[in-house]
Amino acid sequence: MPFSRRALLGGAAALYLAPAVSALGPVRRAVGLDSLSGVGSPSRVAVTFDDGPDVDSTPYFIRLLEELDVRATFFVLGRMVQRHPAVARDLVNAGHEIGIHGWDHRPLPLRGPVATLNDISRATEQVREVCGVEPQFYRPPYGVLSWSALGSAHRLGLSPVLWTTWGRDWRSRADVDSVENDVLRHLGPGGTILLHDSDCTSASGSWRATLGAVPQIISAIRNAGLEPGPLREHDIVSRA
Ligand SMILES: [Zn+2]
Repeated sequence: MPFSRRALLGGAAALYLAPAVSALGPVRRAVGLDSLSGVGSPSRVAVTFDDGPDVDSTPYFIRLLEELDVRATFFVLGRMVQRHPAVARDLVNAGHEIGIHGWDHRPLPLRGPVATLNDISRATEQVREVCGVEPQFYRPPYGVLSWSALGSAHRLGLSPVLWTTWGRDWRSRADVDSVENDVLRHLGPGGTILLHDSDCTSASGSWRATLGAVPQIISAIRNAGLEPGPLREHDIVSRA
């Protein structure tokens, strides 16, 4: 598949956000667009996976990332950590970072402020209890932030982070090439990649396309002279 090195090397990271996110202008301005998008050090690219941990798929990602010598950030769902605690601990033991994706995968605008705080805080507690780590980052389901979520994250000491590029790997018609193409099309130095290590909110088996695309994506990043890694090492641009 034609990989555009120019896109990867071309200046600052492309800021590519879902329409639902870009509609939230005031929230973006309050947090800082670069910070919210996960734009970090220009010598690095952050690799992130959402919706796990899942006993059916996440272990394949752990093994592959070990082979590739890459650490990533996994934005986990509290209910998945409760269901697959050993896999969550395996992620930490393999050196990966745990971020919070909430307890349930429901759009935040459907919830009130109390329910939003409870959802994020319950997931954070679950991660602390099961994994013994203190998460730093929060990513809302569907990338849709609300003022309640922003306030809740702040209260819990979590920084909200979305992404600069994604693999659109949740779709049933996504395949290895489409995931790779979609990620690289909008990837630049300092970018943050969104992928999924579980199909619990996606088309069944869609994680296989993601898994197949990861080696090429990592190669492209390294061939461009950039270092793939977790958000904790990404030195995210702070609010202006
Ligand atoms: Zn998700």
